[in-house]
Parts: sequence; structure tokens; C-alpha cells
Amino acid sequence: MPKGIGQRKRFTSEMVDIEEFHACTEALSFVCWSGSSKHDNVPIQEAGVMGYFKKELAKRQVREDGRRWLFVPYDQLTDQMGPLAREDVRTLGIVLVENPWKAARRPYHKQKLALILANLRHFALEQADRGVAVRRVVGEGPYATALESLIPELGTLRVMLPAERELRSDLARLANQGSLQFLPHEGWLSTSERFRESDIKAPPWKMDTFYRFIRRTTGILMDGEKPAGGRYSFDVENRLPWHGKPRAPEPPSFPRDPIKEEVGELIRNVFARHPGRLDLDALPATKKDAEKLWAWAKAECLPLFGPHEDAMSHRSKSLFHTRISSLLNIHRLLPSRVISDVAGMSLPVGSKEGFIRQILGWREFVRHVHEATDGFRKLPEGRTPVEKAPGDGGYQKWAGEIWGLGKKAKGPDGGAAPCALGCDGPLPPAYWGEPSGLACLDRVVSDVWAEGYSHHITRLMILSNLATLLDARPRDLTDWFWVAYTDAYDWVVEPNVLGMGTYALAGLMTTKPYVSGAAYINRMSDYCTICSFNPKIDCPVTSLYWAFLARHEAVLKTNPRLNMPMASLKKRDALRRKKDQEVYARVKEILGKGDKITPQNL
Ligand SMILES: Cc1cc2nc3c(=O)[nH]c(=O)nc-3n(C[C@H](O)[C@H](O)[C@H](O)COP(=O)(O)OP(=O)(O)OC[C@H]3O[C@@H](n4cnc5c(N)ncnc54)[C@H](O)[C@@H]3O)c2cc1C
Ligand code: SF4
Repeated sequence: MPKGIGQRKRFTSEMVDIEEFHACTEALSFVCWSGSSKHDNVPIQEAGVMGYFKKELAKRQVREDGRRWLFVPYDQLTDQMGPLAREDVRTLGIVLVENPWKAARRPYHKQKLALILANLRHFALEQADRGVAVRRVVGEGPYATALESLIPELGTLRVMLPAERELRSDLARLANQGSLQFLPHEGWLSTSERFRESDIKAPPWKMDTFYRFIRRTTGILMDGEKPAGGRYSFDVENRLPWHGKPRAPEPPSFPRDPIKEEVGELIRNVFARHPGRLDLDALPATKKDAEKLWAWAKAECLPLFGPHEDAMSHRSKSLFHTRISSLLNIHRLLPSRVISDVAGMSLPVGSKEGFIRQILGWREFVRHVHEATDGFRKLPEGRTPVEKAPGDGGYQKWAGEIWGLGKKAKGPDGGAAPCALGCDGPLPPAYWGEPSGLACLDRVVSDVWAEGYSHHITRLMILSNLATLLDARPRDLTDWFWVAYTDAYDWVVEPNVLGMGTYALAGLMTTKPYVSGAAYINRMSDYCTICSFNPKIDCPVTSLYWAFLARHEAVLKTNPRLNMPMASLKKRDALRRKKDQEVYARVKEILGKGDKITPQNL
């Protein structure tokens, strides 16, 4: 069994998880605390832990009557926006849902479950400390079901419009019947109206056009009418590899506390079958932790963020990337705050612009494209097929066991499954940690299962690149990213994988497929130095690249951005093309069995 991934155990139904959640500790019942005795005997039981959270929340009990109630989803854990920022805490109550049903829908990384639960619990105590009434419930099904039973007692609930389409669709029924009122989500830096007003009114959408528009209209990083530094983008300068110097910063660790310990024990007991390594020392969960991470990012990463933005290394998992995405996406750090801090810092303009573009540009852009296409269900060429139930990202193929209830699963569908290139292959077990023999892939996969994180270029040019070269089904790869990364939610993972990583949406939001052979990987990383293949002689990735261009020649030859590689493909003689195809078939066969490729067996 690969180290750090978890156990290949049978996990057959969504019910199993919830039953375990309920049954794990007979001894310690923890209530669905509300501050009202009515709920004190709701017997939700938890793993063999101290009941610390329950006791702490109970200590902060306040009167509930006369309050207006707000549902705060798992990714809106802030009091710096919305009603929590403005309304009198003595008149406010919040509902927080811990939902084992949601956790069981996909084989999510343990670290992601811990991140959500620990932050949610800390947030509950923070709000209770402010005098907000906190009603915490444990869901055993869709969120709408969990909230519905509260409505007769609490009245109409409010919620800032969830970022995740999956949650919006879950809650639609309550909204339609008037039991739930959607408020604008104040965490975004741009509105849908702004996106529609930008110069790109219709697809194909270009991030750069949107980004320039937003820079101009917000004035961020502008000197009057002109972009600061004279240009909107310093991308061309930001493509240096990294050879070990300057030293890459060590990510910070975070102090343990009783909430994290309790969550850790819950995960180990109830969610043991979920993959990935749980590392409580790497878990930011408090406001202080979020500040520590951001202070580290500003001091250690941002000064060198730009030049090495595209570099990859086996000696550093994040190089000069900030690792803030997980906290940004649940709003423990606010995008507006991060942007304004960086705009005010004294930094080389390439680093400052490079970083701001990621958040003001890419992060906003992908969310708009996701929303405008209803999660890629509605594309200019028509409707796309939609999965009935959440995918397992190749878990079953790797583990030999099914995850969840498959098509019988309750709740929202499993997402759109577009595929412009018609790729329908399986995701090899290498993505779950079976050694592939390709050092680049093995290194990044192992980092992901160790931390639930890897930086952008590894996601794009290693994981997506190789899956695309192997004709893996884009939806399966999307589901894999969704479960494996602690920062993944549909609005961000789907555009990045379907739109950018795999070309499943053709030119909807990118101009070409991001694929490469060994030359690029060798130039931008040091992975090849620890590989048994030689990038200039026998690396299969180069053959996979040419075989990919040849297989999809009919579609790709019309793309002007691929003129050069397609012209080179034409010049490739028949023998080499045949060899490329053989390598492709052999690599697929070996990796498909979960075996390792070597220079000898290829
Ligand atoms: C195939 C693929 C899958 C991805 N899946 C996710 C995902 O599930 N969740 C996620 O947050 N990001 C995703 N990204 C975008 C990006 O890789 C991560 O946001 C980034 O690597 C997070 O690490 P960081 O905080 O160290 O980022 P940094 O490099 O320090 O960048 C700063 C911030 O910019 C934002 N950002 C940068 N690029 C993007 C982008 N393309 N889309 C959205 N935000 C961006 C993130 O909030 C990030 O924290 C994906 C990219 C690819 C190519
Ligand atoms: S030689 Fe090829 S397989 Fe090995 S690390 Fe380099 S690109 Fe990857």
C-alpha cells in the first residue's frame, strides 16, 4: 500500500459513514447544541474524544429569542462581511452545519475534512464569544434537509449566496418555498454584472481581457489611467526555473489546540477510510493561524513570487507560492484584504502584479465562467452531459472497491462532463499513489496525498498534462482534484481542470491545450534528476506528447496557437510516429494495471 494515502478498505455506502458518525462513541454524546433545552437531547454522538467543543460552546450560551438567523456555510467562515459584519450581535443567530453526508459523497482527503471541521468549530466559538447565538446541527443528508427542520422554530433563514453550485442547488428548494433568503455574497471582488460588462461579453472568454477591465475599473495597481509599471502583465519575465537559490521558504506550522485534537480524533475514528495524510501541525484553523500563514506569505514568498512562479522542484513543495488558497476559499482570509495588503507592499512590480493577477484575475474569472455556464452545463454549442452522482476520481479502480452509493446517491448531481477531445480513458492508479516510475508524476502525487496541496504549475503541467496525454476522462480527473486538494470546490476546480488543465471545454476559456513533453518539464523543474528516465533520450512523456498531437490532429490542426507543434508533427517520420503510438499504448497498459514503468519494460 502506498504510504500516506490511507487504507484500501471497503466503503460501500453513504450510510456507513453517517452510522459510524453516530455510533462511534456510545460514551460521549454530544448534542446538537442550541442553547435551548429543546435540542439538548438530540443524541448525536461523536468519536472517543473529550467533548471539548461541545462544552466550550455550551459555556458561551446566550438567549436565543428575538434573533434573526443566518445560515453560514462551511466556506463563509468570517465576520468581516455580510450580516455578521454589520448587524448587532445581540440580534443575530447563526446556524452551522457539520455534515458527514457531505463528507461521504466523495473520498475527500482527510486534511480537507479536518480543515473544514476545525475552522467551522473555531468560528463557532469566535462568534459565540462575540455574543452571537450559535446553533450547530449535524446533517445526515442534503443541507436543505438539515435546515428545514429548524425553520418552524427559527423562521426564514438568510444565507449569502453560496459559492459552490452544488450547495446552491441543494438549497434551491428551500429558497423557492421562501424558507431561505439568498443575500449577495460579499467575498467576491467583482460582480456578475461587471463580468458581463467587461469587454468579453460572449464566449470564448479571455482572462486577460477581464483582468485588464477589472484593473481599470477598480483602480487596483493603476497609476491613473495607466497600469503600474507600464504594463498589465509581467508574465514573460516570470518564467525562471529554480536551482536551489535563493532558499525556498519552509511552510509554517501551527500550534495544536483541543479543537484540532478533537477534530483529529474524529477524523481518525469516523473518517478513517478517507485517503490522505492527516497532519494537525500543518492545519491552520484559528484567526491567529490565518494571520501567521499570511505574515509568512508576505515576508517569505511574495518578494520572489514572480520570477519563479512557473518553477517546480522535488526539493520544495511550494517554492514561493503562498499556500493561502484553502483559507481564501473558506474566507478565513479575505481576498479583498489580501489584495489591498499586497498593493500597499513594497515589492518588485513583477511579483506584485503576478500575485494580484492570480486573485483579482484568475480567481474571479474562473468563478464567473463557472456561474455563466451553470457549471459548464450550458455551453455555446449546447448542453453538456451531466453525471447523475458524484464521481470518485478513480478511487474504485485503485482500491478495487466502490465508494458511496453511485447513481443511487441522494442530493445534487455529479457535475458536467464535457470533453472536447472525446477522451474517455481511466485515471491510472498512479494518481492514488501507486508508483508509476515517472519521477515527476510520482513526486507531485506523493506531495498531494501528504498535504492536500501542490502549487499551480504542478497541477497544470504535471498532473493535468500527463492525464491529458493519456486521454484520461476529464470529469474523472476533475473529481480526483476535487477530492485530493484542500482548496477544491466546484466553482474553482471545474474551470481549472475542465477549462485549463484538460482542454475539455476547447477554447471556451483558454486558447490551447496545456500539454508538453519532457523538454518543458526538464527546463522548469529538477524532477528529471531523480528519474530513471532521461528527458533527452528515453523519457516516455515526449512520445506521449507527440502521440497526443497525432491522435487529436484533426481537432488541433485548426488552432493557430498550435501551428508550430503541428508543423513539427508533420515533419516527424512515420517510424517515429509509430513508436510514439506504441509507447502510448504500452504506458497506458502498464499504468492501467497499477504497475511501474521502467526503461526496461517500456
Ligand atoms: C488543474 C488545476 C486545478 C486547480 N484546482 C484548484 C482548486 O481546486 N482550488 C483552487 O483554489 N485553485 C485551484 N487551481 C488554481 C491554483 O493552482 C491554486 O489556486 C494555487 O495553486 C493555490 O496555491 P497557492 O495558494 O500557493 O497559490 P499562489 O500561487 O500563491 O497564488 C495566490 C492565489 O491566487 C489564486 N489563484 C491562482 N491561480 C488561480 C486559478 N487558476 N484559479 C483560481 N484561483 C487562482 C488562489 O487563490 C491562490 O491562493 C487549480 C489549477 C489547476 C491548473
Ligand atoms: S525524465 Fe520524463 S518521466 Fe522522468 S521526471 Fe523527467 S519528464 Fe518526468
